[in-house]
Amino acid sequence: MITTDAVGTDLNRMVRGQVLTPGDSGWDVARRPWNLRVQQEVRAVVLASDAADVAATVRYAARNGLSVAAQPVGHGATTALRDTILLRTGALRTAEIDPVARTARVAAGAGWADVLGRAGAHGLTGLAGSSTGPSVVGFTLGGGLSWFGRKYGFAANAVRSAEVVDATGERYRIDAASDPELFWALRGGGGDFALVTELEFDLYPAPLLYGGRLLWPVERAAEVLEAYRETVAMAPEELSLWYTLLRFPAIPELPEFLRGRAMVAVDATYLGGLISGRELLAPLLKVPGTLLDTVGTLQVADLGSVAAEPLDPVPAMEYAALLPELTDDAADTLLGLAGPHSGSPLTSVQLRHLGGALARPTGTGGAVGHLEERFSLNAIGMPMGPGMAEQIETHHGLMAQALAPHASGRIFFTFLGSEESPVAAFPPDVLARLRAIKQERDPFGVVRSNHPVLS
Ligand SMILES: Cc1cc2nc3c(=O)[nH]c(=O)nc-3n(C[C@H](O)[C@H](O)[C@H](O)COP(=O)(O)OP(=O)(O)OC[C@H]3O[C@@H](n4cnc5c(N)ncnc54)[C@H](O)[C@@H]3O)c2cc1C
Repeated sequence: MITTDAVGTDLNRMVRGQVLTPGDSGWDVARRPWNLRVQQEVRAVVLASDAADVAATVRYAARNGLSVAAQPVGHGATTALRDTILLRTGALRTAEIDPVARTARVAAGAGWADVLGRAGAHGLTGLAGSSTGPSVVGFTLGGGLSWFGRKYGFAANAVRSAEVVDATGERYRIDAASDPELFWALRGGGGDFALVTELEFDLYPAPLLYGGRLLWPVERAAEVLEAYRETVAMAPEELSLWYTLLRFPAIPELPEFLRGRAMVAVDATYLGGLISGRELLAPLLKVPGTLLDTVGTLQVADLGSVAAEPLDPVPAMEYAALLPELTDDAADTLLGLAGPHSGSPLTSVQLRHLGGALARPTGTGGAVGHLEERFSLNAIGMPMGPGMAEQIETHHGLMAQALAPHASGRIFFTFLGSEESPVAAFPPDVLARLRAIKQERDPFGVVRSNHPVLS
């Protein structure tokens, strides 16, 4: 196996961007992902300056028995990086909007913040999720569960074409007609099949947008959950509602009224106007005692402010599940695990209402498929003090056990934890097809996803 010094010297000759190897100043920052819990032991880091750098890095890895892991941000960080070159694509941030064709074209490192403001200026939106932090490409290749998924489906299925670098370092553009198998795999199978240097995807009408956050003390958790269930039962596909039990850390970065307190929130977005929006939220608006109500007319550019998730790196531990229904028993179990008297160490336990277009099979869609489950659950812990990681791990274990009778056993791909296998994300036939494509297109494992399909 080639030495790390030689890798650094060779790559430095071949790419325009910066190359770092262990011992270089800035090494730890360069390999550090968004999720500070994950230690990434890699052979070298390439800070790509353009698509040619991406191709050169892949060709070099292929010739020398190494792998390449693309990582714009590191939300999906992984420890499975042995003999890997970490390719940081975060500097490739071009984002162009075509308001007439209603499409966007983004480079590998562009984030949703680079797209939404420009799209919103034309009354359009992309299928962004809760945070503007994740890269559009990483989010979309994993399926992309958007605020607007109930109306327009998964972000992966909005893709029209992709500019790729394959496992041999060849660059070309693919679409449904030119390479149906690779195009299918990229739309929901993750980053295991090719490196994507540019994505072109559909934008959707959002001339009116309404939404925001309602926040109560955690003591209202049961009342709010009842109103939430009543509201989602009547919700049109234009309305998405998320119920979250929150424990804010006692850190000075937060406003004083949140610091160290436990609360319950409902976050909403509605592709419609204020009057009908308020009518739809009526059961929730009747729950007294709100500490915060930001619900109102919303700009597409401000979507990320609804759930206000952290953009800066944090340590995160995840547990996720999909629930076919939110039965009375499941709701009680959830409150017992994360409600007022639970002693839960988790920062955020969130239910997302699914259904609508997310539940409908599409004949032309990608590996993302569809979700029959009506709710997704995400439970995040942020170990910021001694002993917390152990407490969070124990609590995740209790949660998995208690919720097992209510969960389908499947996990949405972009919500897989850092060590979790994609076996949990796909039905067996989809996984088998993805594995066959991987074996055919990348038999030597040059392209390394955070959740490799052959693992
Ligand atoms: C705060 C927060 C909120 C989130 N909200 C949502 C949400 O609402 N909906 C949702 O579906 N997910 C959500 N996620 C999950 C997120 O979409 C995934 O973690 C996604 O993989 C992040 O992509 P990234 O590029 O930001 O992360 P990275 O860790 O940088 O990349 C993740 C993976 O994407 C692949 N990849 C990235 N770029 C390329 C490329 N150019 N070519 C090939 N493969 C590539 C690689 O396999 C890489 O390991 C959220 C995550 C966080 C931390």
